[in-house]
Amino acid sequence: MRPEVRVRFAPSPTGPLHIGGLRTALYNYLFAKQNGGAFVLRIEDTDRSRFVSGAEAYIQNALTWCGLEPDESPDKDGGVGPYRQSERGAVYRKHIHALIEKGWAYYAFDSAESLDKHRKDHESKGKTFVYNWHNRLKLQNSLSLSADEVEKRRNEGATYVVRFKMFDPEDESDDYVVNDEIRGKIKTDLRLLDDKILFKSDGMPTYHFANVVDDHLMRISHVIRGEEWLPSLPLHCRLYDAFGWEPPVFAHLPLILKPSGKGKLSKRDGEKLGFPVFPIEWKETGTSGYREQGYLPEAVINFLAFLGWNPGTEEEFFALSDLVNSFDLGRVHKAGARFDPEKNMWFNQQHIQKMPLARWTKHCEEVLIERGVSYDKKNLIIAAESIQNRVVLTRDIWEEIKVFFKAPLQYEEKSVKKVWKDHTPLVLESVCVAFGGSWEDDTDSIKSMLMEVAKQHALGLGGVMAPLRICLVGSLKGPDLMVLAKQLGGEEVIKRIRAALVSLQE
Ligand code: GLU
Repeated sequence: MRPEVRVRFAPSPTGPLHIGGLRTALYNYLFAKQNGGAFVLRIEDTDRSRFVSGAEAYIQNALTWCGLEPDESPDKDGGVGPYRQSERGAVYRKHIHALIEKGWAYYAFDSAESLDKHRKDHESKGKTFVYNWHNRLKLQNSLSLSADEVEKRRNEGATYVVRFKMFDPEDESDDYVVNDEIRGKIKTDLRLLDDKILFKSDGMPTYHFANVVDDHLMRISHVIRGEEWLPSLPLHCRLYDAFGWEPPVFAHLPLILKPSGKGKLSKRDGEKLGFPVFPIEWKETGTSGYREQGYLPEAVINFLAFLGWNPGTEEEFFALSDLVNSFDLGRVHKAGARFDPEKNMWFNQQHIQKMPLARWTKHCEEVLIERGVSYDKKNLIIAAESIQNRVVLTRDIWEEIKVFFKAPLQYEEKSVKKVWKDHTPLVLESVCVAFGGSWEDDTDSIKSMLMEVAKQHALGLGGVMAPLRICLVGSLKGPDLMVLAKQLGGEEVIKRIRAALVSLQE
C-alpha cells in the first residue's frame, strides 16, 4: 500500500499572508488533492514577540477566498491536533526531555553577555564564534558541568536554553547528505553547523524543534515549503535521526523574484510599483489585496501556479481542478520565478473572458446593486455580455457597463477634437430623425439605418458612428455601438445626442 499523503501549510501569524506564502499553500493543496491526501493548516505561533493578532483569521480567510480549504486546521480537527503550536506546550516538553535523555540535547546556561564576550574575543582574533562541538565543553552547559551543578542551577531558577548536539566527534562521520525533491542531494559538513537552540529561556520551543515534532506527530509525508528553509534542512534531518523517526520527503520551492528579476519580491515592491502582494485586504494597514483590486481568485491561483512550475505544454489557462490534475512536483523549477504583474492581469482577463455568462452577469449585477442603479434583467445580461471581453479587472466593471445605464456627463476632449467636424451636428440631426422614425429593433437594422444616414451626407459609416459614439458613450471607446443603441432605445439615443449637441456647441 502506498503511504498516505499528508502535507501541511504552516504559516506563522506575524502579519498578512504574502503572495509567496499563498503559493506554498497552493502547491501543498495541489499535491494533496492529486494524491487523495490531506491538506493540513498548522499555525506556528510559538514566537510570541512576532505574534500579530488578526493574522490567523486573515490566513484562514485568504485560503477560503482562494478555494484552498484545509482538510484539517484549528477549526477542523482531524485527530492530530491541537493545530496551533501555542497549544502544544506539553507535547514539546515531553519530546525535549526525551532528546535530553538520549544525550542529543543539553541544557545551556550561558548568559547573553557571556556569549557576546566570546563572540567579540573570537572576532578580535579574526575568528567566528560558533556554539558547537568545537567549544561546547568550554561553555556553561550540562555537558561541561557536573550533574549536581546542573541540578542546582535548575532548582535555583537559573535561566537556560536547550541546545541540540549537532555533531559529535566521537561517533560521527562529518559528511551529512540530505535530499530535496527539487534540488537533489545536498552534502553538508556537520562540523560547521552550530548547536541550535531547541527550547528558549521562556520555555517555548523554537521553530525548528516544534516544526519537526509536529510534522512527525501529524504524520506529514511531504514537507513543501519556501526555499528560505533549505539551510535548515540538515538540522531538521538530524532531529529526525535523533528521535529515530523516518523523515518526510522535503521539497523547497524557488524564490519569487521582483518584476525586474533582481532580488526577492518584497511587500514594498507592490506598493512602489502599484500591484497587490496580498490576496485580500489587510485591514490593520488598509492595504488592499488582489480581491479588492478586482482579481478573481481563480486567476490569482492560475498565475501563482505558474510562478515556479509549468505543465511543459503551451497551455496556460487552468482552473483549480485542472491544476490538481496537471501539477507535478517534479516539474517545479530550481531557479527563482519572476513576478510579472502584467501577466497577472492577462490571467485575470482570460478568466473573465472564459467565465460562463450567467456568472459574469452576477458580477455585473453586484456592481449595479452596490451603486444603487436600477436595471432590467434582460438588459443587464446583454450589457454584461457586451463588456465581458473588455474588462481586465472586476473593479473596472462600472466604468465599462455604466453607458448602458447612465448618459455620459462629460465628453472626452481628445476624442471630440478628433471627430467633431462642422457638419457633425447636421449628421447627428439625421441620426435623430432616423431613430425617431420607425425602425427594426435589431442590430443589423440599426447598422443599415446608420449606413443610410452616412450615404445622405456622403460619408462612410465611421463618419456617423464616431460622433454617435461620443454622444452615447462620451469617448471613442466602449462596447459595440449597435448593441448599445438597441439597448438604450430610440428615445434615449435621441436624448443623449441632444445633450451632447447642447454641451459641445457651447
Ligand atoms: N512557520 C514557518 C513559516 O512561516 C513554516 C516553515 C515550514 O513550512 O517549515 O515560514
